[in-house]
Amino acid sequence: MSIIKTNCHTHTNYCDGKCTAREMIESAIEKGFTTLGFSGHVPMNFPNEWAMTGEKLDKYCEIICSLKKEYADRIEILCGIELDADYELDKAYSFDYILSSVHQIHGKDKIYAIDLSPEELTECVNEEFGGSWSSMADYYFRSLAEFVVREKTDVVGHYDLITKFNKDFALFDETDEEYKKSALKWLDYIIDNKPEAVFEINTGAMFRCGNDTPYPASFILKRIGERGVRVTVSSDAHCTDALDFMFDKAKEHCKSCGIDRIYHLTRDGFKEEKI
Ligand SMILES: [Zn+2]
Ligand SMILES: [Zn+2]
Repeated sequence: MSIIKTNCHTHTNYCDGKCTAREMIESAIEKGFTTLGFSGHVPMNFPNEWAMTGEKLDKYCEIICSLKKEYADRIEILCGIELDADYELDKAYSFDYILSSVHQIHGKDKIYAIDLSPEELTECVNEEFGGSWSSMADYYFRSLAEFVVREKTDVVGHYDLITKFNKDFALFDETDEEYKKSALKWLDYIIDNKPEAVFEINTGAMFRCGNDTPYPASFILKRIGERGVRVTVSSDAHCTDALDFMFDKAKEHCKSCGIDRIYHLTRDGFKEEKI
């Protein structure tokens, strides 16, 4: 049993989470967490219903910092942010860490959400990529890779988020050579340019969509392992029930891909755990 238990990818009701920060902390203490990181969605430069507004961001920082002090003798709290390529943020904010993700694809006149519904993603593929899922995937992976390399990034969020609604390959074939080539090409691009970035093994879609395995898929995780890059386990929790959802399965997923250690984000940096 590990003595370190952490999760650096969690949301509260300041963005699209269902619970308050205090509820998340109380539950994390009950579950035996040693560190809990909050990663609220950064304000975005287009209208949406899931990210924080600038005003909410101020309150989020204020409340997390005060809870950090209040709970200091019971659990370590980190105030992070889930940055997105289309963010709008005063650079003066200083967060404990940055989780970098991409949640949308820019079409000619429209922005499509990747992770809101299979219908919207399919519409994007049909309208913008002539029905080619591998072209959409290449576009997505490139956007994410260039963003991660460009910005300060501690953790790379849900690398293959475009597979969220792809249980049993319902939307596209993940064994397609073109798809795999793009996923690995842009993964290598991140690792070549930002070898210190940590990739997350994210169980969020197992909780929300009933997917069998976490992000990223095995062929991607194997490459991460071969290249000796660090990984962390998180659940992208939007409620207390998801806080440590399927962490054991996530560790098994790592082992089956040749990865024998994971890293926990703490105040003093990433701590290694042999699994
Ligand atoms: Zn995300
Ligand atoms: Zn998230």
